[in-house]
Amino acid sequence: MALTNTQYDLLIREYDQRKLRNETAADERIAYINENVPGYRQLGDEIASLGSRALERLLGGDKAALDDINEKIDALSEKRAALLKEAGYPEDYIKVRYDCPDCSDTGYINGRKCHCLKQKIVNILYSQSHISELLEEDNFSTLSYDYYKDADLDRFRAAADAARIFADDFDKDYQNLLFCGTVGTGKSFLSCCIAKQLLDSGHCVIYFSAIELFERLSDIMFDRGDPGELMSVREDLYNCDLLIIDDLGTELTNNAVAAELFSLLNERHLLHRSTVISTNLSLEDLKDRYEDRIFSRIAQRYNIYRISGPDIRRIKKTGQNRIRKE
Ligand SMILES: [Zn+2]
Repeated sequence: MALTNTQYDLLIREYDQRKLRNETAADERIAYINENVPGYRQLGDEIASLGSRALERLLGGDKAALDDINEKIDALSEKRAALLKEAGYPEDYIKVRYDCPDCSDTGYINGRKCHCLKQKIVNILYSQSHISELLEEDNFSTLSYDYYKDADLDRFRAAADAARIFADDFDKDYQNLLFCGTVGTGKSFLSCCIAKQLLDSGHCVIYFSAIELFERLSDIMFDRGDPGELMSVREDLYNCDLLIIDDLGTELTNNAVAAELFSLLNERHLLHRSTVISTNLSLEDLKDRYEDRIFSRIAQRYNIYRISGPDIRRIKKTGQNRIRKE
């Protein structure tokens, strides 16, 4: 699937504006330092005039000009950095602070799309923009154990620890996670925690409810839509760094589409691409719902965590107190 020209233009304009905003902010910091740190501007002027002198000599055929002058420029730059430090500013104060330092907010690295641009495209194509708002609230920094006690607390703690390890070790350790448990016990919350950490570290994450995923899969199976686009959706689903499937079991089951889902999970496993699944169903229910043999084979590749406890979403909504610890 591809962006329309308008969507692409809007995205690139967003990049241009972000780049400009960050560069202007750096220019303003430099202007401030030039005004307020004595000697800083003069050193800058000296460096600039040395640079233009080097260029003149170079154009005049003097090949040694650069080495000679570079040394002087380095010495002056060091002096300038020392002035900045003495005045109490961090070393990188005058540098541009890009939102994505990897591509300097251009969206491209050596002509190829940067991970930040790829993820933005995925967000637009799969209407994931709402996810970024959700992730501002649901992430490891807001994770709380206060809603659980006793065995529920032990289970949630084990699942949360597994989620942290999964995200921390994502690049070196291939794993899949399956969170099961009743409604509102924190399964989707943990998936969001993982998604947020991996998105922040530049990975490509696709987050689907099982209902949305089954719709996409059936479009692919029954060739509903533009063949090029279907191919591209298929490629994204099979190749994204992390696929998160929320609420497996809520979709309308259809054997053919379920088989497509399991072939997707199988293929991702062969490619060592991780998947995180959450479901309100028990493992027994899942086996009943999908073909036992296929499901069991898939389940072997997942670390399974059962979460139990009160419906936290309801508690939050009704404003009840968190569980009091004895
Ligand atoms: Zn980037």
